[in-house]
Amino acid sequence: MAEQQFSDPRNPNSSSSDESLGEWPASVLAEHIRDGRLKAEEVAEYFLSKVRQRDASIRAFLRIDEEAVLRQARQIDLRRQQGEPIGPLAGLPVAVKDNICVGGEQTTCASRILEGFVPPYDAGVITRLKDAGAVLFGKTNMDEFAMGSSTENSAYFKTVNPWDRRCIPGGSSGGSAAAVASGQVPLALGTDTGGSIRQPASHCGVVGMKPTYGRVSRYGLVAFASSLDQIGPIARNVRDCALLLQVLAGHDERDSTSIDRPAEDFCDRLEEPFESLTIGVPREYFAEGLDAEVEQAIREAIAVFKDQGAQVKDLSLPHSPYGVAVYYLVATAEASSNLARYDGVHYGRRAEQYEDLIDMVCQSRGQGFGAEVKRRIMLGTYALSAGYRDAYYLKAMQVRRRIRDDFCRAFSECDVIVGPVAPTPAFLIGEKVDDPLAMYLSDIYTNPANLAGIPALSLPCGFTTAGLPIGLHLQAAPFAEETLLRVARAFERATTWHERRPSFPDATES
Ligand code: GLN
Repeated sequence: MAEQQFSDPRNPNSSSSDESLGEWPASVLAEHIRDGRLKAEEVAEYFLSKVRQRDASIRAFLRIDEEAVLRQARQIDLRRQQGEPIGPLAGLPVAVKDNICVGGEQTTCASRILEGFVPPYDAGVITRLKDAGAVLFGKTNMDEFAMGSSTENSAYFKTVNPWDRRCIPGGSSGGSAAAVASGQVPLALGTDTGGSIRQPASHCGVVGMKPTYGRVSRYGLVAFASSLDQIGPIARNVRDCALLLQVLAGHDERDSTSIDRPAEDFCDRLEEPFESLTIGVPREYFAEGLDAEVEQAIREAIAVFKDQGAQVKDLSLPHSPYGVAVYYLVATAEASSNLARYDGVHYGRRAEQYEDLIDMVCQSRGQGFGAEVKRRIMLGTYALSAGYRDAYYLKAMQVRRRIRDDFCRAFSECDVIVGPVAPTPAFLIGEKVDDPLAMYLSDIYTNPANLAGIPALSLPCGFTTAGLPIGLHLQAAPFAEETLLRVARAFERATTWHERRPSFPDATES
């Protein structure tokens, strides 16, 4: 099926060494590698050459070991030659956000406090990727401990938006989204606690998905807010996103919140038309603060669904406007507890000079954490402290429940909920960095899905007049990923937004 859809507009008979290789969907690359028309090594070489040409200006990768990439690719080619099964992602490069542990490789969460930390084991998703034959392709930049919406909170450097280098790529999975958008890798892993896959996907013009809470193992994901965190796929199109999710999803007994439920086939029925489809449009999604061009793109997207015969249902999610307030209590409370382990003893950095044990912990944490992480730890500690716990944390948990109940009610009336991912397109680097509240408000449309645990996805649905991508937010009931992806694919089939690419005027290639 993927083969039928695919056509290379420039050269349908293009050979593997052709420059257009980067335009091939990952699903097609995988088929070509499986049947021997393309070598995994050639694919790896191609994407490494893109990293060399482009990452000096984009800065999506914190680390990439070219030799390790080529070694994995050659291993796939060898196994294929020997007639061994090579897996559904065989030979496909996948970039990994730097809060996911890869055994034997540095994992820093873009924090100084974890500088030099080498986990001795692979995260659950990494084991799955390896078993599926994927080529692990470097670690991507992010906001420190995934706290942020712009990747400006990385302790190392800022990643820029491939569509406009004066702008942020979004965050916290900004490195992964920018790497995919700039054609340096076909697939990447992100993590989403309050929007960190969907918001950068929206700002970079790619597809990003947060699965249902419990669908993908969190084993080996460095915890930020454990009741909200999920790992998910970032890709250039819906099919590739489904292909990667298929490998990531599934039970893992090492994560106690992982759901023991077999994953359906997300790719099989992707092209199937809907007999009936109802999309829900919450009135709260067109509130104050929504950029006019974003609003117009979303309204046009709704019209696309209508043209295809979908029913459009106006509805209300009355507690969604409290999402940001609830999220920044729950997430900071959990973070303050999760980050207590960085004490200068167990992991990473220890201050060089200190007077006693307490001073050692204070100095190590004081030097190791950046300003935003410290702010979160203080907010969370306060929200959990004696006398305030009921007023803040428990109240937030009660409202969280209502947010989830709103969604449950809504999904009894519609198949998916449609709206904006972010209230504005990508903003300028530096624009919000000194105004945490403004930064937090950029999560207004994404936080509720995490609080409710539901699956949600961003896909391209337009561009601003300045040329910045706009993402469409689709949300579905728990475990309705298959529907979510099918609806997304139906939209993608009817539009061409996902075919646009940022230009690289400083490079000599296409
Ligand atoms: N921007 C949100 C925050 O700063 C979401 C982060 C995330 O999803 N990891 O917490």
